[in-house]
Amino acid sequence: MKAPSIVFASCVLALLGPLAHSAAQPSAETIAATLRDKALHDPVAWDFVSELTTRIGPRPAGSAAERAAAEWSARKLEALGFENVHIESFPMTAWVRGAERAEIVAPSPQPLSAVSLGGAPATAPGGVEGEVVLFSTLDELMAAAPGSLAGKIAMVTFHMPRTQDGSGYGTAVLARSGGPAEAAKRGAVGFLLRSLATGGHRFPHAGATRYVDGRVPIPAFAVSEPDADQIERLTGLGEKVRVRLTSAATLVPNATSYNVIGEIRGTDRASEVIVLGAHLDSWDTGTGAIDDAAGCAIVTAAARLAKEAPRKPQRTLRVVLYGSEEVSQPSDTLLGGRTYLEKRKAEIGSHVLAGESDFGAGRVYSVSLPAGAANSAFGRTLQRLMAPIGVISSSQPPGNGGADVAPLAAAGVPVFLLNQDGTHYFDYHHTADDTLDKVNPEELAQNVAAWVTLAWLAADSDVDFRALAGAAPSTR
Ligand SMILES: [Zn+2]
Repeated sequence: MKAPSIVFASCVLALLGPLAHSAAQPSAETIAATLRDKALHDPVAWDFVSELTTRIGPRPAGSAAERAAAEWSARKLEALGFENVHIESFPMTAWVRGAERAEIVAPSPQPLSAVSLGGAPATAPGGVEGEVVLFSTLDELMAAAPGSLAGKIAMVTFHMPRTQDGSGYGTAVLARSGGPAEAAKRGAVGFLLRSLATGGHRFPHAGATRYVDGRVPIPAFAVSEPDADQIERLTGLGEKVRVRLTSAATLVPNATSYNVIGEIRGTDRASEVIVLGAHLDSWDTGTGAIDDAAGCAIVTAAARLAKEAPRKPQRTLRVVLYGSEEVSQPSDTLLGGRTYLEKRKAEIGSHVLAGESDFGAGRVYSVSLPAGAANSAFGRTLQRLMAPIGVISSSQPPGNGGADVAPLAAAGVPVFLLNQDGTHYFDYHHTADDTLDKVNPEELAQNVAAWVTLAWLAADSDVDFRALAGAAPSTR
């Protein structure tokens, strides 16, 4: 007698459907508003960033610490009620900092506050020494004649501007990634970079540099801003400044890195996925609190809040905590992000939207949606929901959505950006001073509120962002 009763039950539901639904089920907008307000007092993000940076500390790509962070994160996602929690490992070559030192040896011997750039090779035990030749930009270095830097140490002294949106970094970073190779081409034996920084303090800022034929060609260091000033002033006084660089860095060719994945499964559209990304690895000198434990905490807490809704969302929210973002090479891009894509090429059409939190914990001030979405019904609802937490609609396109979701964007997945105030981000970025005390709990919570609002609204909808982009007038 089972079958008839099922038919009967579904007929009754069909008859009562619209009424019963509206009486029992709040709208997606109402639920999003509730989750947004809950986020402002939700402890999950702070607990996550605090515990990760305290228990594990620095998490260099391919290290035992990154593995511990992945295992800890997977356990955390499970404890928070995520489904399908798993770790996807992939091979990579790790770079390990060794004992290192940078110093002025003439005209007035003194130590420099400096760190080797990621990927840069070791020196001979006694170091490499040369006269410093200054260039104010990478372009100026690239204009130097072949052979003109033979035996020298080339230094790019570009002063990165402080900007709210971090745009100063976009151009400055080219000197870090390309500088050592360009200097080597012209005969230099070493490379120095004025840190890509805005803090003015004496912390050098680490960061990856580009491989050429599988290696960084010459030793390369970043010096702190005051140390760069010192070298510039000495040179300005007419002195020939000689610097010695010593590094025992090593490459570990058979290392492993990890993407950690967990889901809040959807209901009738569960195969449609919204990726909320951040990266778990960090530089080795600090504890990677703003870069990017904060992002991992924000997306995890935002997705977890969906469990507090009165119903599950239609679509699946998938948190992806990527490995090996920091050491990805411009020419060999995005180890974790590309690995995620490679495993899912056949199902990429089911990825309806993706975003990444990787710009610290400064408050979100605007949202960049995929083309066509800002002026859609979805975009207008989102604006209403975001206004109370100080987030406006941006006219800027979302670009690639962030380093780790960039491969998804390149594969046609619509991406968004929740633009954060990065005015102070580059005071601490990639330094020993990137520690938990730089995360403001209230600003962190505002991020979670912005993320859960957008994530819920997109997950509990049937909006086709690809179609909106197709219908939008071209902005290019
Ligand atoms: Zn980052």
